[in-house]
Amino acid sequence: MNSSDRRVFILQVAAGSTALMALSSVHAQDVVVNEKDAQAIALGYVADSTKVDAKKFPKHAATQMCGNCQVYAGKPGDPAGPCAIFPGKAVSSKGWCSAYVKKAG
Ligand code: SF4
Repeated sequence: MNSSDRRVFILQVAAGSTALMALSSVHAQDVVVNEKDAQAIALGYVADSTKVDAKKFPKHAATQMCGNCQVYAGKPGDPAGPCAIFPGKAVSSKGWCSAYVKKAG
């Protein structure tokens, strides 16, 4: 491999890893949980905590939302973030589901 070939090879590897990094960082945030998914329905997930069915979930409180749930792994201020209950997808920080557990602290 001469130096020109090596430079092309290095550029191709760099471009490939940048593309992979872009794909992996987009992944969780672009696939937002749909309220109509079977698992979302089973857990009573809604993207807006104020829309929780109070008759079905009488223990839900207005202050409960994904953003202050123990399971939520999004950064503070982000509109959505990962949740272990919905692997590979993002939930709305203002959402809620019946698996809600108040974040410690
Ligand atoms: S487990 Fe917590 S973060 Fe995940 S959807 Fe339910 S309320 Fe939101």
